[in-house]
Amino acid sequence: MGNGLDKKIQPIYDSVIARNPAEREFHQAVKEVLESLGPVLKKHPEFAEHKIIERICEPERQIIFRIPWTTDKGEDMINRGFRVQFNSALGPYKGGLRFHPTVYLGIIKFLGFEQIFKNALTGMPIGGAKGGSDFDPKGRSEAEVMRFCQSLMTELHRHIGEHTDVPAGDIGVGGREIGYMYGQYKRLSNRWEAGVLTGKGLAWGGSLVRTEATGYGAAFFVDEMLKVRGDSFDGKVCTVSGSGNVAIYTIEKIHQLGGKCIACSDSGGVILHEKGLDLDLIKQLKEVERRRIKDYTDYHKDAVYKEGGNIWDIPCQVAMPSATENELHGRHAKTLVKHGCIAVGEGANMPTTPKGAEVFLNAKIAYGPGKAANAGGVATSALEMQQNAMRDAWSFEDTEVKLHRIMKNIHKLCYETAEEYGSPGNYVVGANIAGFIKVARAMLAHGVI
Ligand code: GLU
Repeated sequence: MGNGLDKKIQPIYDSVIARNPAEREFHQAVKEVLESLGPVLKKHPEFAEHKIIERICEPERQIIFRIPWTTDKGEDMINRGFRVQFNSALGPYKGGLRFHPTVYLGIIKFLGFEQIFKNALTGMPIGGAKGGSDFDPKGRSEAEVMRFCQSLMTELHRHIGEHTDVPAGDIGVGGREIGYMYGQYKRLSNRWEAGVLTGKGLAWGGSLVRTEATGYGAAFFVDEMLKVRGDSFDGKVCTVSGSGNVAIYTIEKIHQLGGKCIACSDSGGVILHEKGLDLDLIKQLKEVERRRIKDYTDYHKDAVYKEGGNIWDIPCQVAMPSATENELHGRHAKTLVKHGCIAVGEGANMPTTPKGAEVFLNAKIAYGPGKAANAGGVATSALEMQQNAMRDAWSFEDTEVKLHRIMKNIHKLCYETAEEYGSPGNYVVGANIAGFIKVARAMLAHGVI
């Protein structure tokens, strides 16, 4: 990180930029991984000889399609759908679908690229993919969301399957959307194929803990980083950006582990509640009523809503960015460090800009990058696939124990790999190298394909 690219790797990166013009987030995600790989090529010349890095940067398949649907008022609408099936060396393509107006190919490719290494780190048999649409669910009725999901699946169904590609949720896609998409897949394929999607409802093939998994996993990862430093969550003041699924269950686990979360946010502003956030209220507002976070102050007069405020200006000891990519910039990182922040765990994908990450690494605080810290979500999706394959359903406790074990293993793997490659304490390097090596070995074994 920050060391620039190895001279063998620079031309590979140059070619990624030339071949994928104007995909800024994809370039950023590729650069961040490639910056870690110099020492790997020195130890493993066979990876360079067989062009593993060049191959990994080129998706195996990219699908772009039209999604036509009709509003409640009868207006015809056209959105664009994507599924980038990036790498299947370790298992069927796996990764979420994102519905957000900012979605374009560059976003899906950055997410799909990250997913390859994240999924490898889980130790589960899953390849990397991502998909979604520029559809904006905000303000849409249930019926509109249903018709949109059905139209998307009318095209997507021919490209997915339990042994081919297994989508799930991401921003804008939760249990409701997975339900509509599963229904349409079942209808078109005439199959009860539970393993084709994850994040399903509990009555029809879903797994306990999947809803909580990304947030719980991220908190478990930070807990491990703190333990290595002889510390814990106990009594720590924490802030968590976002107020969606990841943020909510990050806050829940922080509280269970003895920390106190005082702030969260949405795109409109920040809620600060010094005595600790009322999570039941946040769940009611966001999960049940689909309201904005500013309504929190209607119920707690001692809480403050900062319209347009930035959560990283609030002093904390542990910060967990759990909203979206590039939400934490260099200046925010500097403010956090100045305020005495000792640990950062990324619940979102690539929430910290390269400058921000550099600040954290230089300050030598515990910094857990998303592809390691937020891998608990997709890992629990793989647990859901296991239960589907054996037509079984595990208890909450058993499933959470498995998630916890997976997060501990990911932490250990990243920690040890960083040491082995001469960057002790650097989880960015550890995650990139450990994830890359797993995929690279499998690709070598499979030949030039
Ligand atoms: N979208 C989540 C992620 O970024 C979960 C993907 C999944 O469960 O397949 O990892």
